[in-house]
Amino acid sequence: MTTGIWILGDQLSLNQAALQQADLNAAIPIVLIESLAHIQARPYHRQKLVLIWSAMRHFAQELQESGWSVTYIQAAANFIDPLKQWIQEHEITQLQVMKPSDRPLFQMIQDSDLPCEIQWIPNNHFLWSEADFCQWASNRKRLLMEDFYREGRKRFDILMAADEPLGGRWNFDKENRQPPKGKLNTPAALWFEPDEITQAVIQQVKELEISLYGQIEPFQWGVTGDQALQVLSHFSEHRLPTFGPYQDAMVTGEDTLWHGLLSPYLNLGLLQPLEVLERIELAHANRDLPLNSVEGFIRQVLGWREYMRGLYVFLDSDYPERNWFQHIQPLPDFFWDAQQTDMNCLHQTLNQVERSGYTHHIQRLMILANFALIAGLSPQEVENWFHAAFIDAYDWVMQTNVIGMGLFADGGVLASKPYAASANYINKMSDYCQSCPYDHRDRTGEKACPFNVFYWDFLDRHRGQLADLGRMGLVLSHLNKMSEEELKLIRQSAQKWRDRL
Ligand SMILES: Cc1cc2nc3c(=O)[nH]c(=O)nc-3n(C[C@H](O)[C@H](O)[C@H](O)COP(=O)(O)OP(=O)(O)OC[C@H]3O[C@@H](n4cnc5c(N)ncnc54)[C@H](O)[C@@H]3O)c2cc1C
Ligand code: SF4
Repeated sequence: MTTGIWILGDQLSLNQAALQQADLNAAIPIVLIESLAHIQARPYHRQKLVLIWSAMRHFAQELQESGWSVTYIQAAANFIDPLKQWIQEHEITQLQVMKPSDRPLFQMIQDSDLPCEIQWIPNNHFLWSEADFCQWASNRKRLLMEDFYREGRKRFDILMAADEPLGGRWNFDKENRQPPKGKLNTPAALWFEPDEITQAVIQQVKELEISLYGQIEPFQWGVTGDQALQVLSHFSEHRLPTFGPYQDAMVTGEDTLWHGLLSPYLNLGLLQPLEVLERIELAHANRDLPLNSVEGFIRQVLGWREYMRGLYVFLDSDYPERNWFQHIQPLPDFFWDAQQTDMNCLHQTLNQVERSGYTHHIQRLMILANFALIAGLSPQEVENWFHAAFIDAYDWVMQTNVIGMGLFADGGVLASKPYAASANYINKMSDYCQSCPYDHRDRTGEKACPFNVFYWDFLDRHRGQLADLGRMGLVLSHLNKMSEEELKLIRQSAQKWRDRL
């Protein structure tokens, strides 16, 4: 039997499962494939393409330098044709592949009628195995993130003092989520100059004649495991101590605040979740960092990230088609071009996505997804856009975050109520409303903020469904107190806005 290993573009770690169980001395052939056809299925952010291709090329070089025998293919076709050719050339009888994180890619390979046997190696880029998550999730009435997170803390012994959570509490949210006030003195993010390999990819992407999105330069992302580790160290040193308090703040000109900027690297395999958690825990132990920040961050990686991926595996494959509110409004053009909207919060956030492919969580959730939810945009069009626009977007992370958390299109599988908010929240947590032509206090009239109009219209349109959720009583009671005259104006204004979108 001749074995070969195919390493996918988001499996760029020397510890990835297929490599880990292979013998370096056995001269096992390894292949990595860039496919031009694959990236034409939907638009990509230019920087995401540069990031993935450059990281793959760097990783292939690293493998070669470590003694592996590597073939690197740049194909115009889809993955399968060049893969078949490589299998035949190397007379491979068994192809080993670490199971892809994304279901469509797994399915495509399964259906591809390769001229050899495929051995799937369980994916080790997450802390929870697929089987362990499914076991945890089965027979539960509610799949609460909080329950899952606590189980993860105990199971992986993170921030624990024997059987109790360190500091006596599981959650320090009350000390976090502060609005931005005064001068923030944010630490600079760690960025990198493109090296020769990256410059060559940038040039190649510039010359592609396919539909792409976003600015390609300045390209500042790290493209190697070593650079990803530097970003982690930089975060732990300079940003982690204040991560918690301003986790939800949004400030013009402050694209990254105290956030980790780690998702592009984690999702490519350049960082492993356990090494991130252990480094953060060690930093806390050595430097006595504020527990609200440390726990707040650990909750993101050990809690939310693992939970979202676990749900993706556990839920039915029809999940991305869900549309609980039956929203069908097409995606407005301004999502592809920030210049086309004068709503300042959207303008600033979309502009940032164009420039870098990145915004932090609250901009994604409470500006972009919130607008899409209350304006009634089609969840599938919105998911497609998020997938195309973000540097860290993959099927496994996008579906539950957009369809579930952002748009509540799953009817409450993972959130107990929709993350819908008016301008009140945006004004409290950001400085966007201060430079906006709309008035964040108004819900009717010429200058009324569209978030207010759509928010109340959304509650009104779906009041029956929302009342059944149980946790919407307070906001629905405000709606019930609104005069019929005001509601009529809001409905008219929402319709006008929808016609304009
Ligand atoms: C509508 C929507 C779309 C999103 N799309 C993506 C996406 O395409 N790719 C992606 O990795 N994350 C996505 N997220 C989750 C989260 O917003 C990003 O992981 C985070 O903003 C990445 O920036 P950071 O590394 O600076 O994060 P930090 O704020 O520093 O958080 C640390 C890490 O926690 C993890 N994390 C936190 N929340 C989540 C979550 N909800 N799901 C998965 N991981 C989480 C990430 O790995 C992140 O790097 C989305 C969230 C929403 C609401
Ligand atoms: S006023 Fe409304 S549209 Fe303008 S920034 Fe505030 S929330 Fe956004």
